Amino acid sequence: MSKCSVCGQAFPEGEMSYCSQCGRAYCERCAEEVPSMAALGICPDCEEAWQAEDDMDEEW
Ligand SMILES: [Zn+2]
Ligand SMILES: [Zn+2]
Repeated sequence: MSKCSVCGQAFPEGEMSYCSQCGRAYCERCAEEVPSMAALGICPDCEEAWQAEDDMDEEW
């Protein structure tokens, strides 16, 4: 069992989504409400960092 970092409920690991950057756990229901998890498999925090890095790359 893994604990969802959003709602705090425990679910079987097969039903969880994990941020590929920081490993934050989301249950299926919470992951659906987070666009960056659905689209990129990363949490909003990491998406921000990822986009900031991307912006920096564009300046080079
Ligand atoms: Zn949840
Ligand atoms: Zn993350």
